[in-house]
Amino acid sequence: MSRRKRACPRRSSASEPQRTCVQCGAVREKGGLLRIAGKPGVGWAPDPGGKLPGRGIYLCPVGECVDRFAARIRTPKGGARWKMGVAGKELADRLVASRCGGQGM
Ligand SMILES: [Zn+2]
Repeated sequence: MSRRKRACPRRSSASEPQRTCVQCGAVREKGGLLRIAGKPGVGWAPDPGGKLPGRGIYLCPVGECVDRFAARIRTPKGGARWKMGVAGKELADRLVASRCGGQGM
């Protein structure tokens, strides 16, 4: 006996599509998350404008999600989920660099 819950497709008046942060699972409007675009096995790049083609990985732009995600994809196991391989380290460096830019640390 399984009761199926029907997911309510519309909550309030969300006009923007929503995405889930791959690190903490927070659901936000697409524009409120940092997008990383790319293709598994090919390459990935930060895509703050959300314009690049390919698959998207979404992260909270503030907080620890970027740092944690970067640390995760530096390891072969963490990057394997998106078939990042060596590109994972590169991407991690770019993410951390872009995050620290302009913060005067
Ligand atoms: Zn997050």
